[in-house]
Amino acid sequence: MQNQACRDGIFYQDYSGIFKGGGIRSVFFQRHGGVSRTPYDSLNVSVNVGDRGDHVGENRQRIKKVLGIPSLLSLGQVHGDQVLSATRLLPEDREVPGYDAIVSNTTQALMIQQADCQAVTLFDPFMKVAAVAHVGWKGSVNGILGKTIDVMTREFSCQPADIIGVISPSLGACCAEFRGYRTTLPSWMHRFKGNNDYFDFPAISRFQLAECGLSPVNIHRIEICTRCDSNYFSFRRDQDTGRFATVVAIQD
Ligand SMILES: [Zn+2]
Repeated sequence: MQNQACRDGIFYQDYSGIFKGGGIRSVFFQRHGGVSRTPYDSLNVSVNVGDRGDHVGENRQRIKKVLGIPSLLSLGQVHGDQVLSATRLLPEDREVPGYDAIVSNTTQALMIQQADCQAVTLFDPFMKVAAVAHVGWKGSVNGILGKTIDVMTREFSCQPADIIGVISPSLGACCAEFRGYRTTLPSWMHRFKGNNDYFDFPAISRFQLAECGLSPVNIHRIEICTRCDSNYFSFRRDQDTGRFATVVAIQD
């Protein structure tokens, strides 16, 4: 599936078409087209990695311009399990600390910041409820996806069988070596280990989503490894680096 688009020098993968009948925009931005300098070159969206604040601000402005959106709701992500419910449109950008997932029933644009972690977009096309979660290995362990779906069903009346999920570009099984897995990962995850202590974390997310009641045909995985593909920021590859953006917004 070829979904790459470019606008104003900014490259992104647009996977809105996966969501049957539309209703949501789901876009994964590459690292190009921003103003940040090495090692954050160039479309870094994180204010927490050592980059200049004015550069991050300009990069976020460019993302909003490309998508034609007024504001971004983002999270000061902490690899935790807290889920933010967002039911109002914001007049300007806001970053809420301490959360790793957002659920929304408005057209507010939601942003996750990544360098190898997954951003998992969830959408219920019947209830018009969207969510996006930041899923690193700690998020896999603490069940952030299940907690996000729990908020969707409990607070927003979604049915898991109706929810469509898309797993963003992230660290692939080719590069996710976890030598200390016996002490860091629970035993049920060990079945997702391939050769030489390499784990398939997107497959773990797929399993967790199915356990929550999503239909396997409604769970999609973008087969791009962020460490292998230099168009994306990768913590594994570069350590001191930027964060790329996944942006999700319900359409009118
Ligand atoms: Zn790889």
